[in-house]
Amino acid sequence: MSEDMKVFENLESEVRSYVRNFPTIFTKTKGYKMWDKSGQEYIDFFSGAGALNYGHNDEHMKQKLIDYIVSDGITHSLDMASAAKATFLKAFNDIILKPRDMDYKIMFPGPTGTNTVESALKLARKVTGRTDVISFTNGFHGMTIGSLSVTGNAMKRKGAGIPLQNVVTMPYDNYVDDQDSIDYIERFLEDNGSGVAIPAAMILETVQGEGGINAASFSWIKKIKALCKRWGILLIIDEVQAGVGRTGSFFSFEPAGIKPDIICMSKSLSGYGLPFAATLIRPDIDIFAPGEHNGTFRGNNHAFITATAALDYWKDDQLTNNIKAKSGKTHDFLHQLVEKYPELKGEVRGRGLMVGVASEVEGLSAKIAAKAFEYGLIMETAGPNDEVFKLFPALTIDDQGLDQGLAIIEKSVTNVLKTEAQPV
Ligand code: PMP
Repeated sequence: MSEDMKVFENLESEVRSYVRNFPTIFTKTKGYKMWDKSGQEYIDFFSGAGALNYGHNDEHMKQKLIDYIVSDGITHSLDMASAAKATFLKAFNDIILKPRDMDYKIMFPGPTGTNTVESALKLARKVTGRTDVISFTNGFHGMTIGSLSVTGNAMKRKGAGIPLQNVVTMPYDNYVDDQDSIDYIERFLEDNGSGVAIPAAMILETVQGEGGINAASFSWIKKIKALCKRWGILLIIDEVQAGVGRTGSFFSFEPAGIKPDIICMSKSLSGYGLPFAATLIRPDIDIFAPGEHNGTFRGNNHAFITATAALDYWKDDQLTNNIKAKSGKTHDFLHQLVEKYPELKGEVRGRGLMVGVASEVEGLSAKIAAKAFEYGLIMETAGPNDEVFKLFPALTIDDQGLDQGLAIIEKSVTNVLKTEAQPV
């Protein structure tokens, strides 16, 4: 380890994690590129775990933010009325909600993903008067007790230190081969002897990010919505990672043609990587009393500014077309890669630019991601055993950046496979 990195080892908590996978000090970033202290350039296929869908330091957002700060615009205001908030609310409604025929009230919880999930779970319980929630295998919703209770990962759950209750986990789409998870869930709901009470809500990601880039089929999502309707269960879609264009449309559930009861948003909503979250609520269930759920950092004014500027990307089809073109290229590349290297025992997963390759070979994906970092590509792993290497390029990436990143992946795969093949 270099001298520079010792400060983290000496002073930062053991809980630190990404710094271990990417052990260098970053100093500068633009678009899909990052640079470290030594001047080494990296292509970013990590994008802040989905918080930087528009790339780093977008010029348009940056200028709006600078102008706002220089003009002494409001920085902190709890949930008082600010001009920045009014502008965002109006723009979000006009550019995103109205054209999609979506009628939602917008709640600003604390500024992170887990904050919006907590608010959604609490609201669903209040609306229905029920206690339980159905979550899904390999779901990931955050690290506070409520959101952790609906998260599948055993290591993360154990960290709670207390029993995680009032949750029933059901199989996600394709969790068990040849088993229809919808029939299975329906049987539990119908049967008075199943031991499963009708829950307040079901919570799910349409493409599971941390859980291994598992994409649910549109028909499965539709059936879940129908089940919820039939039993009066609220459907919470967690868009924290899959939302804001990552899968190809602003909301990941759009192609399934459904409207959730509650939508959780954070990560790329601010556009600029600033902490920001929103919970979208069907108007008739918007029943929290004033201040019943609160927090000091609700609605981050700087994020209102950049989030409003980010919505300009959704005024025409340019970004959506770019996601389509680049995701087509990425999926084609990965399919060829797993065919060309059968030793990978790889399976291509995902939708849009939320993509990954699951390798059946234990430890291989982590080695590929580590090698890629050596070659100048930032890429993380996902899945309960880190079995998936995960491609999350900026949605604004150009052909040159994408080609460069994909080439590094292939180089890393060949290098790691060659090393693995050598007798010990
Ligand atoms: N939901 C999903 C789907 C996520 O991917 C994450 C973060 N990876 C969260 C919730 C939690 O967000 P945060 O880390 O901002 O609390």
